[in-house]
Amino acid sequence: MKERLVILGGGESGVGAALLGKKHGFEVFLSDKGNLKDEYKNTLIENSIEFEEGFHTEEKILNADLVVKSPGIPKKADLILQLNSKNIPVVSEIEFASRYTEAKIIAVTGSNGKTTTTSLVYHILTQAGLNVGLGGNIGKSFAQLVVDDVYDYYVLEISSFQLDDVATFKPYIAILLNITPDHLDQYDYKLELYARSKFKITENQTHEDYFVYNFDDDTTVELLKEINTNAKKIPYSMNTEMQDGTYADDSNVHVNYPYELKLSISEFSLRGRHNVANTMAAATAANILKIRKDTIKRSLSDFTAVEHRLETVLKIGGIEFINDSKATNVNATYYALESMNTQTVWIVGGTDKGNDYSDLIPLVKKKVRAIVCLGLDNSKILSAFEGLVDNIVETKSMQDAVRAAYMLGKKGDTVLLSPACASFDLFENYEDRGNQFKKEIKNL
Ligand code: ADP
Repeated sequence: MKERLVILGGGESGVGAALLGKKHGFEVFLSDKGNLKDEYKNTLIENSIEFEEGFHTEEKILNADLVVKSPGIPKKADLILQLNSKNIPVVSEIEFASRYTEAKIIAVTGSNGKTTTTSLVYHILTQAGLNVGLGGNIGKSFAQLVVDDVYDYYVLEISSFQLDDVATFKPYIAILLNITPDHLDQYDYKLELYARSKFKITENQTHEDYFVYNFDDDTTVELLKEINTNAKKIPYSMNTEMQDGTYADDSNVHVNYPYELKLSISEFSLRGRHNVANTMAAATAANILKIRKDTIKRSLSDFTAVEHRLETVLKIGGIEFINDSKATNVNATYYALESMNTQTVWIVGGTDKGNDYSDLIPLVKKKVRAIVCLGLDNSKILSAFEGLVDNIVETKSMQDAVRAAYMLGKKGDTVLLSPACASFDLFENYEDRGNQFKKEIKNL
């Protein structure tokens, strides 16, 4: 008899897992409490995969041999607890997909910088002529890619939720960028639980694998003392010389493992100190994969910023506009402000996720000429920064925000959208916010 695979959640990863399960001989049933997108529904119908939407039929789900759970479903949801009590294995789509490929996996996780670093690693590997697929949280789900499984390497962006339910997932190179508070509501407000889920990226690695980690991140370094990994540990640091790892001085990055490689920071295409850190992680991985030095150097200088992440938009009247709409937390905005080389008009605000703005005060005093608040409730921003800058104004639409910023800027300044907040009060998502920003700049 066929094994019964139940997929909970019919988004990109769920549908990918359904197709992969079907290919490998499971009897597949997909259940989503919400509504499925038409494109996904059509895919399921075309592939004769049974599904339901709008509700969960419990008896059918509790009859599964294996369950693949969408990262969006909380671990404590009633249905998941029932599955646990019946000892039915519940895994993530990443875990499931990894069981059906022999390709080498380079997996990137962390609180900030995942998309940038994953894209950068992918860029270097494709420039080197390797046969490589890009996926996970970016573009196609890992399971979708493994349905055809035509690649020798996968570069995957992985969130902590996707790591929660792994059992055997084993990247050849795991990169942990940083651990700063985010999504704590899903982890009982305990940083340690959130941090531990990120460490699952290395849990199943062997001595043949590599764990690339940020030596400047205290939470990572502390937990590494307690958590066992068999992988070779390769640290990188912005401020400590690393003989067996990678570090940066004022002008160069030195990659020391396994080969020596010196990279000039001024030739990197990405701006900002945080991107030097991301670049160190990516270059370390590329060096482990024995990619030619010239290829690594060239790739780091011709890589273009990922959309909505410190993306240069236009220069108008001597004022440069930069879109960092993806900065949805204070830490990301910290690095954006830090990377500004001119006086800045800063557009900030949105849905507050419990932000503490105090870390930004020294940077604001030094670099920010004026603040344009863009949110329904700007009270925390006003009280944090009032009196520190020449002007602070409130707006409630992107059009008003861009116009105000343009008026407040002087020739040679930068207008930076780096909201430090989620976008849901006024926009659909951060992409919508960034796209509206770009549109309004063009309308000036
Ligand atoms: P993620 O995929 O983890 O959300 P992104 O690469 O999309 O990360 O970047 C998200 C935001 O964080 C952007 O505003 C970016 O400028 C900022 N950022 C990128 N790398 C880092 C880093 N290493 N530390 C802090 N902030 C970063």
